[in-house]
Amino acid sequence: MFNRQAVTCRISKHLSAKAILAGALITIVTSGLLLTVQFTRAIAINANFLERDTQNIAESYQAELAKALITNDSTEVEPIIRSIIAAPFILSVGLYHNDDKALFVETKKDPYSRGEFKGIAKHLKQPIRSLTLLIHSTDDTSRQLGYLNINFDIRFHIERVASTIVQNMLFLVAQGIVISLLLIVFYYRYLCKPIVEIAKQIKQCDIPNAQGGQIGGKYQPRNDELGALVNELNTFIQLVDQAVVAKETALNAADHSYKNLSTLLESLPHFISVKDLSGRLLLANKSYVKALQLDPDNYIGVSENDFLSFVPESTRKTLKYADEEVLAQEKTVVLPEVEWKFSDGKFMALEMRKIVISYRGHKAILTVALDITERKEHQARVQYLAYHDSLTNLPNRHLFLDRLDQALLRAHRSGLYGALIFFDLDNFKNHNDTRGHLFGDEILINIAKRLKDTIRNQDTIARLGGDEFVICLTELSDDELTAKNLGSELVERILTCLRQPLTIENTSVQISASLGVAYFNNDSLSASELLQHADLAMYKAKEAGRNRVFVFENAMAETVARLRQLKIDSKEALADKQFYLVFQPQFDSETMEITGAEALLRWKHPTRGIVSPDEFIPLLEESGLMPLVGQWVIQNAVKTASIWHDHKLVKKGFKISINVSPQQFRQVSFAHEVQRIVNQYSLEAELINLEITESMIIDDITHTANAMNELRNIGINFSIDDFGTGYSNLNYLKLLPLDIIKIDQSFVRDILKDQSSIAIVQTILSMAKQLNLTTIAEGVETQHQLEALKKMGCHVYQGYLYSPPIKAEQFQQLLEN
Ligand code: C2E
Ligand code: CA
Ligand code: CA
Repeated sequence: MFNRQAVTCRISKHLSAKAILAGALITIVTSGLLLTVQFTRAIAINANFLERDTQNIAESYQAELAKALITNDSTEVEPIIRSIIAAPFILSVGLYHNDDKALFVETKKDPYSRGEFKGIAKHLKQPIRSLTLLIHSTDDTSRQLGYLNINFDIRFHIERVASTIVQNMLFLVAQGIVISLLLIVFYYRYLCKPIVEIAKQIKQCDIPNAQGGQIGGKYQPRNDELGALVNELNTFIQLVDQAVVAKETALNAADHSYKNLSTLLESLPHFISVKDLSGRLLLANKSYVKALQLDPDNYIGVSENDFLSFVPESTRKTLKYADEEVLAQEKTVVLPEVEWKFSDGKFMALEMRKIVISYRGHKAILTVALDITERKEHQARVQYLAYHDSLTNLPNRHLFLDRLDQALLRAHRSGLYGALIFFDLDNFKNHNDTRGHLFGDEILINIAKRLKDTIRNQDTIARLGGDEFVICLTELSDDELTAKNLGSELVERILTCLRQPLTIENTSVQISASLGVAYFNNDSLSASELLQHADLAMYKAKEAGRNRVFVFENAMAETVARLRQLKIDSKEALADKQFYLVFQPQFDSETMEITGAEALLRWKHPTRGIVSPDEFIPLLEESGLMPLVGQWVIQNAVKTASIWHDHKLVKKGFKISINVSPQQFRQVSFAHEVQRIVNQYSLEAELINLEITESMIIDDITHTANAMNELRNIGINFSIDDFGTGYSNLNYLKLLPLDIIKIDQSFVRDILKDQSSIAIVQTILSMAKQLNLTTIAEGVETQHQLEALKKMGCHVYQGYLYSPPIKAEQFQQLLEN
């Protein structure tokens, strides 16, 4: 707002005073001037008058004076002279002869005899004037006889005239002052006062709510300049009013939108900044100020160079080019990814946009940056996950095959040998099943870490799934023998590393692995073919008793093809009635009686002959057919047992043992299915014994206990198979409705030579005794083994010593005998 107070004061204080001063001055100056002019004129006029009067007087005596000069008689002259000097303003009269210019007669008088002159006459300069009158002969006018010299004083006259002039002048001054005063009163009343009033009203005028027409009041209807001024002022105020209102509305709107905009700017997570062309900050939002650790109250004008010192050199260059580009092109420049480092050391990836704007009338660069670190990390993570195993962080099958492809390509070009190692951990499933998955995971993580540290830089290790790993060794040598020597050295190193005991959950775990190795150089094998070769070699290593290395040979390829075919064939085996059961007697060496029979599944392949269950059961499990085949086994074993029972061939306590696969046991309908079969053949359930393994119990103890209890309620018995190879946890033995413990054949095999096997068998036997469980020894082949077992207290056995598994009819004969 402008200073309205100041305007009003100046008007009210000074204008009328100035007017008074001006009036007085004008009066005085004009009166003075007038007075001077009048005096000057009066002096000139009076001097002229006096001169003419003097001349007239003198001329009137011309003839007498001429006569006196001729006669040279002074007495004649004296009365004339006296009468001339009688005029009060004539001071001296002298008559002179023409020939010798000698004074003839003279008369003088004192000008001050009449007293001092007064007034202006007193100060007059050169008041005395002189007049010379030539006197000619009356007969001959051309003859000059003499001359008359008269001095006269103009002050006599001036003194009189001046007092009149002064009187007149005083009157005029008085008149002037009166007129001035009247004018001032008029001026004040009709001009100054209204102006002051109007000024006051303008001052009080409430803009922007005056709406015009408020100013002037009584002056408004006046038909003079003031009326016009007031009307113009009102119109003007009205216009100002409207303009101010419009401006305020616009300002409010601008203010509002500015506030909205700045709230938006401040709340955005984007880093927003505006800098001038020399890189000095003009504006920055909160995010930017915070991220760059700028002083929020003092960042304006700070040079970009100062706070960008943390940013990598390459980024600074990129930003410089972008600035140049945006200035040259004047359109948005997008930097999709800028690597940024903040003063706190934090790294960020930013997506940046730059554009030239006009900021407060000057060209400036607006930069908007978005933190895309998370997006980038997420992308990288997704990419990483797609190519890595999440548990061990090793490359997965996908990435490995890719790398293997490249390795094969390089080997093809260079002729350098490489090797593919395929391995899985021996007994890993047992650890996993008995200690839980977390324990198993720890084993895998530790193994992966160790191997990563063991292999060379150029080699790749990957986890294919489960406990299966692969390692690709490259650039061994171009000579086959040297390559294979180096390869086996590296394989040995890997084996040694795997065999080092691990400590997990404060337990020392001994791990071993079976390895298959396949060498490659410039042969045209595909990655998956090579993988199959190494897999096959590993399979052979397992078959040969685990914890060893097998190198792929071409002959092994046949086994792979065979297994693949078997898996396909197994799908038709059931419908094609290629399965049958054999039964192995369980014999009590004390009572010399057969106490039971274990039903064992056989597959008679149409072209390959008898296939071992160790070979085909995993294939059936893999293809999900095991529950169906298992059901067929129960059905046929129960049927056979019911025939023997109906023929009264079995004594009281005889049991038919049926192996149950984990997949089969996990079926929700398993217990119900068994019950249905028992009912179907009206066999006493007490005759049936289901063989389960330790791993099945651990897998899901709740389900196992429920299913077992349900079946136990109808009289079914349970034995635990291959006991001693798993976790052998006493607690669950107590919890579950178990009847029989079957000592695994590996202990029986070594019972004569291995002290630890003896110890294990002894422990199992005493444990079984405490829990009131029957024990059966498996795989008894020799009399010595049997004797050793009997000495320890186990007299029921199963094995080739008494009988191998035999067909139902043969078993029946055995029973009949
Ligand atoms: P298992 O349950 O431990 O069966 C005993 C195995 O030991 C049988 O092998 C049997 O032939 C063999 N055996 C018996 N006495 C001796 C001996 O004195 N010395 C030696 N070295 N071995 C002996 P088989 O029949 O080849 O069965 C192998 C495995 O296949 C079985 O081991 C069992 O785990 C599984 N299996 C067999 N039939 C079935 C079935 O119907 N269902 C399920 N789920 N698994 C079955
Ligand atoms: Ca068994
Ligand atoms: Ca067994």
